[in-house]
Amino acid sequence: MNFEYAAAPESRSVVKIDPEYGHFINGKWVNGSAHFNTINPATEEVLSRIALGTAADVDAAVKAARNAFDKSWSKLSGRERGKYLFRIARIMQERAREFAVLETLDNGKPIRESRDVDVPLSAAHFFYHAGWADKLEYAGVETTTAPHGVVGQIIPWNFPLLMLAWKVAPALATGNTVVLKPAETTSLTALLFAQVCQQAGLPDGVVNIVTGDGSTGSAIVNHPGIDKIAFTGSTEVGKLIARAVAPTNKSLTLELGGKGANIVFGDAAIDETVEGIVNGIFFNQGHVCCAGSRLILQESIADEVLEKLKRRMDKIRVGDPLDKNTDLGAINSAEQLAKIRELTAAGEAEGAGRWSANCALPENGFWFAPTIFTGVTQAHRIAREEIFGPVLSVLTFRTPAEAIEKANNTPFGLSAGIWSEKGSNILWATQQLRAGVIWANTFNKFDPASPFGGYKESGWGREGGRHGLSAYLKGSAK
Ligand code: NAP
Ligand code: MG
Repeated sequence: MNFEYAAAPESRSVVKIDPEYGHFINGKWVNGSAHFNTINPATEEVLSRIALGTAADVDAAVKAARNAFDKSWSKLSGRERGKYLFRIARIMQERAREFAVLETLDNGKPIRESRDVDVPLSAAHFFYHAGWADKLEYAGVETTTAPHGVVGQIIPWNFPLLMLAWKVAPALATGNTVVLKPAETTSLTALLFAQVCQQAGLPDGVVNIVTGDGSTGSAIVNHPGIDKIAFTGSTEVGKLIARAVAPTNKSLTLELGGKGANIVFGDAAIDETVEGIVNGIFFNQGHVCCAGSRLILQESIADEVLEKLKRRMDKIRVGDPLDKNTDLGAINSAEQLAKIRELTAAGEAEGAGRWSANCALPENGFWFAPTIFTGVTQAHRIAREEIFGPVLSVLTFRTPAEAIEKANNTPFGLSAGIWSEKGSNILWATQQLRAGVIWANTFNKFDPASPFGGYKESGWGREGGRHGLSAYLKGSAK
């Protein structure tokens, strides 16, 4: 029997979106000189107009952050800083529904994910770092416990609030002040966070938010008054930033792209593995730097896994992100959709076999059906380049050594997954894999206490845990 789901939309009445926003500088709202639209990618409805930050706006924000560092923030004890972080965390929890609905509207991700993952994890990052603020000398970090000063932070659109939390919470806990730029398509939750800072009574200038595009980001990177840059985004822009920062005294951390290998050994529990594969690549529309985008299957079980995977993928519910039953929401932007289409067309042209789930896609907005490519070779672009969409590339192997060789054959090194019933298999494989985060018999699990980051072109430095703290303290390697 085929049961239909009734629509279960979350109400958007909980959020109030202004028709236009300015920047948040020195605790106040400052008008922008030019604006651009931010839209709901599921409907293409214009939600608001966002200020395009200029070099002068960035300069004002850096001056405010420096002033706040010198006059108030650096004079507070860790215990006092921690109180502000606890306050922010609690307000985020109180306003969790507002944050979740706003994130889903602006980003296109399902409400189930913004409500159950993005927002609670963001609050958890503030709670976790609130606890560290007065205990830095016991953290066992290989740096001093002195802050850098003013930190410039630039974040992407895939987890807008969560990436803000990953950046702002450790910066404040360690005593730095912040100038942050959210991504062009997803500024709204950062602007709501600015209101939370006001509500928490955070001293003016400790957190400054300048919205804008790549030129605004570049003004932050090149501002001489900034002591450290923390960037999350593409490897391409990360390289530009590394070049710009190299001749200066700025410290730098980079969290960049990935092409995660999800390796399934012949002895894995197949049904659980299929769930893990789906979670690994279709979570957040595959807009995940650590997505398990390369499935590496042992030949003996490949047919069975693929058959079960397709059956499961046909049940993925694609559609209205505000509907509580939705599994897969909208692609974040027209540009990202064009990139996914270009790479999947290359997959077909290069000879891989394409299969897409049989689902109806809404007419407006940006959508892409969950898709897998079989018969992928290591030379194919879809095996080498980050697609950043709901597209899985499947490769196979015969011996464990071949699996590891294929998994490591990438310029990236952010994440990997291993599926096997045997502990010895798992331990052996984790030692061979060159990836910063390795999950065993699960995928895409995050915790503020666990460091996250990559090897090679996936970036420099770690975020989260004690390792993430030292990146915000003086004496860290560039
Ligand atoms: P992106 O184009 O590199 O953008 C990231 C941020 O940098 C945005 O705020 C962007 O502004 C800004 N920016 C663009 N050009 C800049 C420049 N020349 N100088 C300074 N800032 C600049 O990346 P994206 O497309 O937004 O995000 C997707 C990428 O991020 C993927 O490759 C993904 O793997 C990676 N990512 C990595 C992690 C991680 O932790 N390792 C986490 C999430 C995402 P605009 O928005 O205006 O372009
Ligand atoms: Mg948007």
